[in-house]
Amino acid sequence: MSEKNYEVAVIGGGIVGSAVAYYLAESGLDCILIEKDEVASGTSSKCDGNVTIVDKDPGFDSHMSLVSQELMSDLDGKLDIPFEYRAHGSILVCDNDDEMQAATDWVKTQNEAGLKFNVLDPKDIRNESPYFAEDIPGGLECETDSLINPYLFCYSLVDKAKRNFGLEIKTQAEVTNITKEASGEFLIETLNGDVRAKKVVNAAGVWAPFIGKMLDLDIPIIPRKGHIIVGSREKPVMFRNMMEFGYLMNKFGRDRISDEITARHGVATVMEPTESQNFLLGSSRQYVGYDSSIDIQVVQTLARRALRFFPKMDDFKIIRAYTGFRPFTEDHLPIVSAVEEIPGFYIAAGHEGDGISLATGTGKLMEEIINEKSETIIPTEPLRFDRFAKANV
Ligand SMILES: Cc1cc2nc3c(=O)[nH]c(=O)nc-3n(C[C@H](O)[C@H](O)[C@H](O)COP(=O)(O)OP(=O)(O)OC[C@H]3O[C@@H](n4cnc5c(N)ncnc54)[C@H](O)[C@@H]3O)c2cc1C
Repeated sequence: MSEKNYEVAVIGGGIVGSAVAYYLAESGLDCILIEKDEVASGTSSKCDGNVTIVDKDPGFDSHMSLVSQELMSDLDGKLDIPFEYRAHGSILVCDNDDEMQAATDWVKTQNEAGLKFNVLDPKDIRNESPYFAEDIPGGLECETDSLINPYLFCYSLVDKAKRNFGLEIKTQAEVTNITKEASGEFLIETLNGDVRAKKVVNAAGVWAPFIGKMLDLDIPIIPRKGHIIVGSREKPVMFRNMMEFGYLMNKFGRDRISDEITARHGVATVMEPTESQNFLLGSSRQYVGYDSSIDIQVVQTLARRALRFFPKMDDFKIIRAYTGFRPFTEDHLPIVSAVEEIPGFYIAAGHEGDGISLATGTGKLMEEIINEKSETIIPTEPLRFDRFAKANV
């Protein structure tokens, strides 16, 4: 058994746990990151890398994203391992005139909130990429959006925190039990030895409910599966991220005009050029538990939907496909919070399709909560764990 008592143990080495551990260690706390497999082996390596506001609800959601984007830009200057940060903005394209009207209204709302959104007409869309379909009515742009490689970003955070701020990392260490002892400290049992800590942050993504159960806590997060196709570099289709407007409708469960199979698999096109100019083509949204198998029907639906926007890409080569689990909460906001009934226990999980965008804001906020700072970078109230008990979700 480890003799050392850590100030904080962070469970889960995904993008959220890595960011939380980074900011805690930077603030001077003696901190350990515990991961059942390797860093970034969960959802954070089975996703896209969009750091976006374009797909956020106006208000708190957008504000948290903007703060997180600023922190990401700051880290680009601070971290030593490059993580393919590209701040070129992103675009959202419309399928039909109804969506174009909704997109125009969306830009107005976001502009009124001070965010840098612009309406794009059909000419702008063609200037963006000659591969777009001729009949796209337009779209919108968010100037501050960026792209990263999430996998590299996790390693970059952990590397810096380890070398500069003394963060310890324990991998291949699945947490199997947690006990709160009479002293108030936590005993964390793992498959790679025990750990003692005064405080624990549960950053286990879609597995956070299993960690909660170890302390008799119900955490309302469920997996929302997504498929992605990796396409090979053939021609420079475009250099920044593109989503279709229907992505917003799928994400927030709103009505959308689409065919039956597209609706059934929750498919909406997202096209992300990687730094090597391969591309990631997504994505789907399904509630099918923790089954990570690839469904060829979903892959076909993704490809067919992408051809609506990029018809000239019908002969592009596919390298592979993969799936990941978004940690879904009912109100589409993550939990970044202390747990009142278990003093010293905190949750940073439930980021659904936004964990890459919101990881930095989450990490910084968790550091401020644990260090009991009177002012925080974003309000804590909307992210509290007890909102679910109050709403009886
Ligand atoms: C297809 C797809 C596309 C996406 N695209 C984007 C995007 O473009 N932009 C965006 O912002 N978000 C996107 N997301 C969402 C984003 O990927 C997630 O919100 C984010 O990765 C969640 O990070 P996390 O650290 O909470 O979880 P994870 O990365 O899953 O990390 C949790 C970690 O906890 C570990 N763990 C679990 N149980 C234990 C245990 N008992 N003991 C120790 N460790 C444990 C796991 O091994 C894992 O490494 C996408 C998701 C998917 C599926």
